[in-house]
Amino acid sequence: MGVLALSTIRKDYGETRAVDDVTLDFPEGELTALLGPSGCGKTTLLRMIAGLEAPSRGTIALRGRDITQLPAHRRKFGMVFQNFALFPHLSVRENVAYALTIGGTARAEAAARADRLLDLVQLSGYGDRRTGQLSGGQRQRVAIARALAQEPEVFLLDEPMSALDAKLREEMQVELRLLQQRLGITTIVVTHDQREAMTMADRIVVMSAGRVEQAGSPQDIYRWPATAFVAGFIGRANFMDGVADQGRVMVGDVALSLPEPVKFLSGSPVRLTCRPEAIRLEAAGVPLNRVQGTVTFVRDLGPVRDIHLDTVLGKIVAEQTPDHSLPGIQVGQTVHLTLPPEALRIYPRPRTAMAA
Ligand code: ATP
Repeated sequence: MGVLALSTIRKDYGETRAVDDVTLDFPEGELTALLGPSGCGKTTLLRMIAGLEAPSRGTIALRGRDITQLPAHRRKFGMVFQNFALFPHLSVRENVAYALTIGGTARAEAAARADRLLDLVQLSGYGDRRTGQLSGGQRQRVAIARALAQEPEVFLLDEPMSALDAKLREEMQVELRLLQQRLGITTIVVTHDQREAMTMADRIVVMSAGRVEQAGSPQDIYRWPATAFVAGFIGRANFMDGVADQGRVMVGDVALSLPEPVKFLSGSPVRLTCRPEAIRLEAAGVPLNRVQGTVTFVRDLGPVRDIHLDTVLGKIVAEQTPDHSLPGIQVGQTVHLTLPPEALRIYPRPRTAMAA
């Protein structure tokens, strides 16, 4: 059992079902990322956990105790919002000490505790400043220190990096993760950024249309996406629509093999995925799952190159490291590409794709 357990949590706003029967456990000391596209219900789910929104049905339990009806201020969960929501008229120290003084802690003790927290987020010496005199990254640290002031059992963050520029965002992801590990605090982070989720999380919960598509470690989700949606949302994937045919998959006239015979009934519409980095561009070896392609674009990103190809399987992107690349590969060139069977994943083809 986790520290926090959600059981068939649902939220309806009129006709809109924002969260659709979500059941999840949050293990002690772990950082879980709620990840999904805009509108998938992740913020609504976090707000229900925080007590800022009442579920339409379902229960929320903290260490086995039902807290579904408990108001937000009595849950004592630390929360960091997108815009940090700091008080501009208070100093940095007062911002961090605020919840403590409201809660009845003596002023001097609250200030001392605030200073220790500012140390923890590497802002010692900033206590007397106004929050308006801080950079975005520093403001975020104040928000984190403030949320941690009450020693919350659960730490909740809603898109904590969205106000920061790209470079700072990456630095803060690492810092926040190190801090969370050092404190061993059970943490839930809402994000739409899969790199952010992969950087910070022990476990990623991928959501779509109010539902959990998959929950697992970043590596498991990347290697074994449960659905074609997850394969496209976490990392990059080439998609190929085909039909199951006696243990293999026909994509147009090409038969593709997987490591095991495909279990779908012959004639079933299926969708295959293959990561760009798994595709090999060479004519050597056994000609299994090999087709020809014409190079349409080369995107040189430094450490890797994306080779865009037109093939009988459709448009394919192959990611190559310099030592594996064909030297001097050029637009218009014809190459052989191999999709290793072990790199293919197979899913039922989504209905919407069949209508198209
Ligand atoms: P984003 O990343 O854009 O914030 P999200 O995944 O956090 O998206 P939510 O904000 O949870 O998604 O919204 C889920 C769905 O519920 C959306 O369709 C949204 O329009 C709807 N919704 C959210 N809050 C309300 C509200 N207060 N009233 C009505 N509908 C709402």
